[in-house]
Amino acid sequence: MQKLLITEIMDDEEVQKLQLKFDTIYDQDLFKNEEKIIQIIPEIDALIVRNNTLVSEAIIRAAKNLKVIGRLGVGLNNIKVDLCKEKNIKIIPATGANTISVAEYVISFMLILSRKVSFSSGEVISGDWPRAKLMNGRELYNQTLGIVGFGGIGKSVSTRARSFGMNIVSYDPFVQSLEPEFSYVQMKSLDNLLLESDIISLHVPLNSETENLINKSKLQLMKQGAILINTSRGEILDENAVIQGLQSGHLGGAALDVFQKEPLTPEEGQKFKNVPNLLCTPHISGLAEQGNKRVSSLIANSVIKYFNL
Ligand code: NAD
Repeated sequence: MQKLLITEIMDDEEVQKLQLKFDTIYDQDLFKNEEKIIQIIPEIDALIVRNNTLVSEAIIRAAKNLKVIGRLGVGLNNIKVDLCKEKNIKIIPATGANTISVAEYVISFMLILSRKVSFSSGEVISGDWPRAKLMNGRELYNQTLGIVGFGGIGKSVSTRARSFGMNIVSYDPFVQSLEPEFSYVQMKSLDNLLLESDIISLHVPLNSETENLINKSKLQLMKQGAILINTSRGEILDENAVIQGLQSGHLGGAALDVFQKEPLTPEEGQKFKNVPNLLCTPHISGLAEQGNKRVSSLIANSVIKYFNL
């Protein structure tokens, strides 16, 4: 029986399916312990990770039998992809499986931040009735949404935002031409997108070109009161500049699902404390129940298929 190692949380039913086919080690906290992974990995034929396991050079070099890595998600920045290629280790991402979950998260946070409705509970309960303060929230209708990266998730967000009557602009230098169904999208330079958009949502992979793409000077191009949503990767933006933008009121709101350091420690989280109009979530935009199930199922089936089991 081939040996499988799963180092992060995976849907229980899919794990059980895998356990019937593989000699399986499932430890959803193992991603925290690189040394232990290095001890176990020489025997392992298949590895399944989410985004928290750093599949480092040391792990890949210690892997003697590893043939395939299933990635419960799409970003591959936590895996030494070049070294895997060199060692003929196939990487299987869960392309598209959590796209709807992320797109719906983006739409939810666009609505919540535009209407400022998530910031009122304390005051309402304490009898302050902050109606005057909260009656200047904005509709999505007729606002401009800027989508940075027009791939699977960017497109899915655009379709949904379109149904709210938003104008959609996008920046993606790799898009040569748009399919007819997206003819309403206007492709722009990044600077023009930032200048024109009321809401900006980031959907690029993390690589050397996208790291710090939304830096301090790019943030300054954004409209007064603009809203920023990042479900892509923390390193894409300058976190301190976003915090400053919110504190000064230049940014009207931000939703951050991803951070440069994950999980955030209490010390690292400190800088985000009491920042106005900021909503933080722990990298869960792709983790709606159905998205999670789809991702786990796609990876379990693909790994089983890879070994013809
Ligand atoms: P995708 O590959 O379908 O789309 C990415 C798009 O970005 C492509 O169209 C590509 O051309 C474009 N792009 C690449 N480099 C660019 C650049 N320098 N400037 C502008 N555009 C660029 O990927 P996807 O499925 O849409 O996912 C996008 C990212 O979202 C993933 O890489 C991942 O990091 C992140 N993600 C996060 C979660 C979460 O739970 N937070 C879940 C899924 C995906």
